[in-house]
Amino acid sequence: MTHSITPIGHILTPFTQKFSIPRQGLSLSCASGEIVFSEHIDIAQSLDGIEAFSHLWLLFLFHENLAQGYKTKVRPPRLGGNKKIGVFASRSSFRPNGIGMSVVKNLGMKGQRLQVQGVDLLSNTPIVDIKPYLPYADSVAQASAGFAQEKPKPPLTLKFSTQAAQKLVLHQACYPALTTLIHNTLSQDPRPSYKKHKQDNKIYFMQLYDIELSFCVMASTAEVIDIYPILT
Ligand code: SAM
Repeated sequence: MTHSITPIGHILTPFTQKFSIPRQGLSLSCASGEIVFSEHIDIAQSLDGIEAFSHLWLLFLFHENLAQGYKTKVRPPRLGGNKKIGVFASRSSFRPNGIGMSVVKNLGMKGQRLQVQGVDLLSNTPIVDIKPYLPYADSVAQASAGFAQEKPKPPLTLKFSTQAAQKLVLHQACYPALTTLIHNTLSQDPRPSYKKHKQDNKIYFMQLYDIELSFCVMASTAEVIDIYPILT
């Protein structure tokens, strides 16, 4: 059987590139997003009652990876990137049908858009469905979590160079959540897994909204070197 899917809309998030997006939703991300519904969705009818649910499941397409297909075995970052595991035993973003799922906090409707918090999605990701999160059904107290059982690594300490700190104040005026978002993403060390165990002197670049940041990591500290607008 084949079945085609028409997204119900797309989500706008601060993440304008894949690098540096937290690897899970609510538990690791503080970022907010808003869902813009497609014209064929009757918003008033279809979202009636959604305000009663504090948390929602978002089902979406890993649209940036669809063209690349998938592999039956993947290297989860949590295993340091050097051990392979079956795709169905992972939350890899390269999957047979490219479907992702994230639990987010429901912040309610603002106009015709649904506001959510705790997103791990690239901006413009197509949303294919929304369902209420049901604690009695979706939360399993004694669940085992395989390789993801281990607690995430301790967060990196964050510091800003003098020029980055000055520019942050300016950008913060446009994006009030910017400082929190930078802390949230950099403290989780967004570098590729194989780099994390090494002292590396590389300068990395990451994008949030229409801003680019350069940073480096020394031991357990990430330093934001500079912040500048992305020129389009
Ligand atoms: N919580 C979801 C799940 O379990 O299905 C996503 C987990 S996946 C490991 C999260 C990663 O997917 C992010 O760190 C980001 O790099 C990537 N990602 C997010 N949105 C994407 C998109 N639209 N296309 C491709 N990759 C995406």
